[in-house]
Amino acid sequence: MHAWPASEVPVLPGQGRDLALHDTSTGGRVTLTPGPVARMYVCGITPYDATHLGHAATYNAFDLVQRVWLDTGRQVQYIQNVTDVDDPLIARAVETGEDWAALAERETALFRDDMTALRMLPPEHFVGAVEAIPWIVPMVERLRDAGATYEIEGDIYFSVSADTHFGEVSRLDAETMRLLSAERGGDPDRPGKKNPLDPIVWVAAREGDPHWDGGSLGPGRPGWHIECVAIALQYLGMGFDVQGGGSDLAFPHHEMGASHAQVLTAEYPFAKSYVHAGMVGLDGEKMSKSKGNLVFVSKLREDGVDPSAIRLALLAHHYRSDWEYTDAVLQEANARLARWRSAVSRPDGPAAEGMLDEVRTALADDLDTPAALAAVDRWAAEQEASGGSDTGAPGLVSRTVDALLGVSL
Ligand code: ZN
Repeated sequence: MHAWPASEVPVLPGQGRDLALHDTSTGGRVTLTPGPVARMYVCGITPYDATHLGHAATYNAFDLVQRVWLDTGRQVQYIQNVTDVDDPLIARAVETGEDWAALAERETALFRDDMTALRMLPPEHFVGAVEAIPWIVPMVERLRDAGATYEIEGDIYFSVSADTHFGEVSRLDAETMRLLSAERGGDPDRPGKKNPLDPIVWVAAREGDPHWDGGSLGPGRPGWHIECVAIALQYLGMGFDVQGGGSDLAFPHHEMGASHAQVLTAEYPFAKSYVHAGMVGLDGEKMSKSKGNLVFVSKLREDGVDPSAIRLALLAHHYRSDWEYTDAVLQEANARLARWRSAVSRPDGPAAEGMLDEVRTALADDLDTPAALAAVDRWAAEQEASGGSDTGAPGLVSRTVDALLGVSL
């Protein structure tokens, strides 16, 4: 499917810094060492409740990864999927009586509009699960032929025991994995499973469920994890630089994806680093579809909120922290946006180069956006204090904030 239009990224003077990120699989900071073309896969939405601020916060984090890489002169191969067929999407369609495909299409269109408004750089390939079925079927057949799968009533499960590296992405104990599996789309209690954690890779066709020709697998639809593996391997291959997503994807989704890919290819690792963004809460609870406490980007836009202010609200929090959305967060972002816009309407002084350096340093340090915003705040305060009132071109500060933070002043 098509992605969304890219906003222009200004080229900045001087040299960008190499990015260090917290890698879940090692539990520590790693300085990434991409080649001239950095490769990143970020898990996309299941399109039935797009785009809440939790989504926006995740895509904001990985948008910054792209921007830092671009600033070092690298090209970026960025892939994102859309889980346009899966249990929760089908369940929502059944609940509301809407056709599942129409629901997915509408919500995906809304997501594109929100991403465009927020100036998130688009992926090079934006791929739906349905589009990936022709790649998924032979992969499941290969896993089966390698003895890594088994069947329960036509459904095909992957044996996590087939991967000697299983568990190395999320580094959780078995009991935690079991609990999270039950919470996050798994079925640990289904009778007949060899290991309660084993994930489904091919769901046999059921009455009324959408399904496709699965060749020797029989009619059905793909499991969630194999979908991302198929898309990532199609465009990036093994050993790409960053597998990204929200922290609720570390287990089971990224753990299972890595195992699928490592068994399929007999290569290691699937991704060189696994990077996870924190959760956004509202009224003391994680923002999620099941709790119904969502703040939507489209609703804020409808209410006249400037997308640059939404972006600044996201950037005010470190991507790995869990944070709470409140009206005060938005007010603060609006006030900051107004201060910055007022400051850039005056000519830049030499201090702007120091600000660029500070923003680069902050972002390279595990995307420390609060420090990056503080650097621009300091520059804006100095500019204000100096009292200059000439009308000037947007200049270096605007270009820095645009190129590295995605914020249009
Ligand atoms: Zn995924």
